[in-house]
Amino acid sequence: MTRLLFLGALFVAVFAKRTFKRDQVLRINAKDDAQISLLKELSEQAHLGLDFWMEPVHESLPVDVHVPFHSLQAVRAFLAYNQIQYQVMIMDVQGLLENEEREMLKYNAFPRSTDDFVYSTYHDLKSIYSFMDMLVAENSMVSKIVIGKSYESRPLNVLKFSTGANRPGIWIDTGIHSREWVTQASGIWFAKKIVTDYRRDPVLTDILNKYDIFLEIVTNPDGFAYTHSSDRMWRKTRKPNPGSSCVGVDPNRNWDAGFGGAGSSSNPCTETYRGPSAHSEPEVKAIVDFVKSHGNLKAFVSIHSYSQMLLYPYGYKSTLAKDQTELYQLARKAVTKLWSLYNTYYRYGSIITTIYQASGGTIDWTYDQGIKYSYTFELRDTGRYGFILPANQIIPTAEETWLALMAIMEHTKNNPY
Ligand SMILES: [Zn+2]
Repeated sequence: MTRLLFLGALFVAVFAKRTFKRDQVLRINAKDDAQISLLKELSEQAHLGLDFWMEPVHESLPVDVHVPFHSLQAVRAFLAYNQIQYQVMIMDVQGLLENEEREMLKYNAFPRSTDDFVYSTYHDLKSIYSFMDMLVAENSMVSKIVIGKSYESRPLNVLKFSTGANRPGIWIDTGIHSREWVTQASGIWFAKKIVTDYRRDPVLTDILNKYDIFLEIVTNPDGFAYTHSSDRMWRKTRKPNPGSSCVGVDPNRNWDAGFGGAGSSSNPCTETYRGPSAHSEPEVKAIVDFVKSHGNLKAFVSIHSYSQMLLYPYGYKSTLAKDQTELYQLARKAVTKLWSLYNTYYRYGSIITTIYQASGGTIDWTYDQGIKYSYTFELRDTGRYGFILPANQIIPTAEETWLALMAIMEHTKNNPY
């Protein structure tokens, strides 16, 4: 009997999905440097199990932290004692996740074509990969390239939209951080939008008559599968770290651009762990190899959520990018287009001036490879739901983002280099 109970417990430990019952997300507003320092100390208390959705960096930026129920009292007491202001953004994380799951179950059917596919809900990996295959089967301009394999041997699929040979390329990726579900969902919508608008929208048609578009929708498939099976809040890759019980590397700190510098961590148990060496993650290395072997990408857009920002290099250093003026003006134009649809307000600028110093990031590397139009988006929202953005915001998010992407692609087309 004891043995059975033990096996039962083991089974739960191995296969159960992590739950977040009565966990909260707090928004903390530090008023000065001293309070930011206190919050940084708080973030180092590993036993509290805090997950900073927005890290403490500067008093001008809010700090969002997911607090497990067992640590709520301690964290509230700490904040009160130090007179640090905060509000509850999410009262019960589990409650929101259950809404999200219920919403997904409504659309469990297998679509027979991409016209049948439901774009307004979240999908698992299998469903997204089958969407890609349907899109390829339906459209002669679309093909699927496998640029490598993830650590757990999943294919790294990239959709190629092409209407002729030997074109320069435009790259878009979504979902490199697996929990940022609105990004993969938007990527699916972009793919359908491209095939729908070709020969209908003259600007997109002109872009596709001169450039190929490459779209990697699930850039971190192991992490994404894990967000569905085990832990909805998983951000990193799934590669084990020798000598540590903590798994995974932050694939947006793993690039060979100021690798190992400030704004990345050497601790495998943190969410910004940079990995043992640059390009150590197969998901990153596959893109590096692709970019180098292609050799003619002219724009590179890497899409994250949340916080509503459009950013360009650099993140690892405060030196201005040599194209700063043009990158700034194009960012302004892109966010103005984005805003015009639903009045969604985006901040924009270089990474280091707009958010914080972050080393080893994707677009710093691509920019240093000579891809001038290198941008990163942080999609909706600004923290009301954070990573658990309700599915009814998927389509509006994708639609408005598309306008900004079009601005970047059109500018790329009109300004060959
Ligand atoms: Zn991200």
